[in-house]
Amino acid sequence: MYKNTVEFIQNIYNTKDFLPLHEPRFIGNEKKYVNEAIDSTFVSSVGKYVTQFEEMMAEFVGTKYAVATSNGTSALHIGLKLVGVDKECEVITQPLTFIATANAIAYCNAQPIFVDVDKDTLGLSPSKLEDFLKENSSINQNNECINKKTGKVIKACVPMHTFGHPCKIDKIVEICQRYHIEVVEDSAESLGSYYKGKHTGTFGKVGIFSFNGNKIITTGGGGMIVTDDEALAKRAKYITTTAKVPHPYEYIHDEVGYNYRLTNLAAAMGVAQMESLVLFIEKQRELASKYQEFFKDKDIEFIKEPQDAKSNYWLNAVILKDREQRDDFLKDTNDNGVMTRSIWRLMNKLEMFKDAQTGDLSNAVWLEDRVVNISSSII
Ligand SMILES: *Cc1c(COP(=O)(O)O)cnc(C)c1O
Repeated sequence: MYKNTVEFIQNIYNTKDFLPLHEPRFIGNEKKYVNEAIDSTFVSSVGKYVTQFEEMMAEFVGTKYAVATSNGTSALHIGLKLVGVDKECEVITQPLTFIATANAIAYCNAQPIFVDVDKDTLGLSPSKLEDFLKENSSINQNNECINKKTGKVIKACVPMHTFGHPCKIDKIVEICQRYHIEVVEDSAESLGSYYKGKHTGTFGKVGIFSFNGNKIITTGGGGMIVTDDEALAKRAKYITTTAKVPHPYEYIHDEVGYNYRLTNLAAAMGVAQMESLVLFIEKQRELASKYQEFFKDKDIEFIKEPQDAKSNYWLNAVILKDREQRDDFLKDTNDNGVMTRSIWRLMNKLEMFKDAQTGDLSNAVWLEDRVVNISSSII
């Protein structure tokens, strides 16, 4: 039924073998740098590659600081702590996201609130955010945004740039500023994506990236916190390295810290992957334009980069007519060795988050029934 699509994808990758959704590519200095890290004996969380990787990331995205972490989830957990999220707080995010976004909020013992996405970006909707806050919050004398229903402080907002497509982040930041809400950008999927010429992850107070094996570049597992705030960057490094007070020979820790540092081994791979990043983005955009051309005259809609945005097209996605067609498409492609996956189940439908407060989620519900990810390995 979707034979044309299967054949088209097999042709792109020039194979009839099983095609994974997103394979990593190692075409540069990965082995060389990893070997150097081994030879240096600095394989753990101290070593020149960690610093170098952080510097390369800060320069690439255009922030003053970058702090490497063990993965994207830990980066997000710390990002939320940096802006003061704790058990008394609530955090707004989108229901259509990878579980890590909601989990990081739960790690802070804070409550998530799910606000709808836009259909054109798949990311948090500024208009739905504004509607939600207008109806459900007020500002107290301490300039805190209070949830009228629970009496708790809505401390932070975590928009996510879905599949590398930037959401309307400038508007989101503007609304959050008015409501005294801190923005922590989950840009795990959007390294190399820009909104109005500015890199995603640099609009909010803190941004985070992931270098998991399926992301546009990988360190095996890894993450990064980016910010322009020197005090936050220092604190990020401090609490991700067990909150150790500097001392020449004694172990002193003055709060409960975390062992969330990236290893030098992983960072060595990260430095090599950074050297390929510009090429990877180019290739992903080339692949996306092939898909766009192919789906142009079909009744499957290819998801294109939103207005004012330049997307890294990390994970390509299509919209099927309805749930039934979506299921047919998923079955047909997977049965024929072309791996495709449905978009995530909405966070508010999962057991752990089923009691969370939500706004009107009509767009997310609509997309959940129809969006499928298609082969996106770098060509
Ligand atoms: C990948 C990802 C993360 C973090 O992932 P890790 O696997 O912990 O590196 C966070 N949020 C989103 C949206 C992601 O896609």
